[in-house]
Amino acid sequence: MTETQAPLKKERWTHQWKELYSEVITTGLCTGCSGCVISCPHDVIGYDHEQGGFTPFHLEEELGLDDCGHGVKGCTSCTRACPRFRTWEDEADNFMFGRARRDDEPSGIFKDIILTRASDDFIHQTGQDGGLVSAILIWALDNGYIDAALTSYVGEGDDGDSWTASPGLALNRDDVIRGAGSRYTYSANPLAFNEAMDSGATKVALVGMSCQSSILPVMKSRKIGKVGNRFALNIGLLCSKSFDEAIFEELFELKYGLDRTTIKKTNIKGVFQIWTHDGAYYEINLKECHAWTREGCNHCPDFAAEHADISTGGIGKYNDWTLTIVRTDLGREIIMKMLADGSLIGRPGDDDPGAIALMHKLSAKSRQRWPEFAWEKPALLPVPTRK
Ligand SMILES: Cc1cc2nc3c(=O)[nH]c(=O)nc-3n(C[C@H](O)[C@H](O)[C@H](O)COP(=O)(O)OP(=O)(O)OC[C@H]3O[C@@H](n4cnc5c(N)ncnc54)[C@H](O)[C@@H]3O)c2cc1C
Ligand code: SF4
Ligand code: SF4
Repeated sequence: MTETQAPLKKERWTHQWKELYSEVITTGLCTGCSGCVISCPHDVIGYDHEQGGFTPFHLEEELGLDDCGHGVKGCTSCTRACPRFRTWEDEADNFMFGRARRDDEPSGIFKDIILTRASDDFIHQTGQDGGLVSAILIWALDNGYIDAALTSYVGEGDDGDSWTASPGLALNRDDVIRGAGSRYTYSANPLAFNEAMDSGATKVALVGMSCQSSILPVMKSRKIGKVGNRFALNIGLLCSKSFDEAIFEELFELKYGLDRTTIKKTNIKGVFQIWTHDGAYYEINLKECHAWTREGCNHCPDFAAEHADISTGGIGKYNDWTLTIVRTDLGREIIMKMLADGSLIGRPGDDDPGAIALMHKLSAKSRQRWPEFAWEKPALLPVPTRK
């Protein structure tokens, strides 16, 4: 074989916590998704759940906060799991779809867009929009596609935890229903992974905002099999931002007199909607809420959960339907089977072209948040090697 015919070989992946810290965590690219935390085989990455936090940090300090002893010895799991490290988007696209997205695909690559809602009235009403996500989880648990789901629960007590969202494990219908609905503060759902492993689960679903749904194809494409292979389903939530929890006290309570314990449901449809237990309804201009945007969202380029099997949102003219973007064969198989056995009611996405146009518009807008200093296009190209 001549030099010019030498096969292209992938550059060896040597990037560890040191690079993750300098390129993602301290630059503001980190969304707090917690992918690195659950992937660390040495359990040396902690996670700050506190208000204003939602960031990973190194638990062993002998090399300083910015380096890792295991990384120095060759461990690279954290960067392999990070969906904001270097060329994450193209890598995930290629892994899932066999190609990178085109510029005219602002919402990512997909197969179908439809509108859906749970046919079970209780699930439908408990869900945020059409109750699709809850219906899928219940159906997938019942039909052996998954045996656990990483989802989010919300505090209901009077002791300050009302509306505090936190990650949790759903193993059955009751658990799924308990987590239904949307909270617009952050919940790092992947953090329930260890609990899932402790429960003996082997086929796990992840429910998460766009930032979280990119974790799975990124870690699978970068060969974090021990964690990645446990995931069997990836359900994404469309997302333009999440808010700091301080918004409850500093805006809703101070300006509008809304104690968080009185809130029954929230939604965002052009305005921040709040329903209270006494039947009252409030609308708060989103511009007023901007000051409480969570820091981790500022550079997030993904509105449409572009790497989920099924992405779900609530935009459009039909309030009680879920805008459903089916991206993979698995996603299509599940939706088709649910429609066929009557678990779901569907209608064409074309019934609400405005919703689809709005999704593309919001996706394009979010993409502008990806900063110029970040890696732009594939860097981990094959490099020629000599034999
Ligand atoms: C922070 C956030 C921002 C969003 N922004 C938009 C948006 O801008 N435009 C849009 O169209 N849609 C947005 N969505 C998605 C939308 O609110 C619904 O989640 C989606 O339409 C699915 O509705 P459903 O009735 O099918 O889901 P449901 O059946 O109600 O299930 C919702 C699932 O989401 C989980 N969940 C709820 N809150 C959180 C949270 N804070 N963190 C992680 N998981 C959570 C629940 O545990 C549950 O599993 C957002 C969701 C969240 C959580
Ligand atoms: S974006 Fe996610 S995986 Fe990357 S450093 Fe932040 S928390 Fe870790
Ligand atoms: S905008 Fe939504 S998807 Fe993006 S980092 Fe914030 S919470 Fe995650």
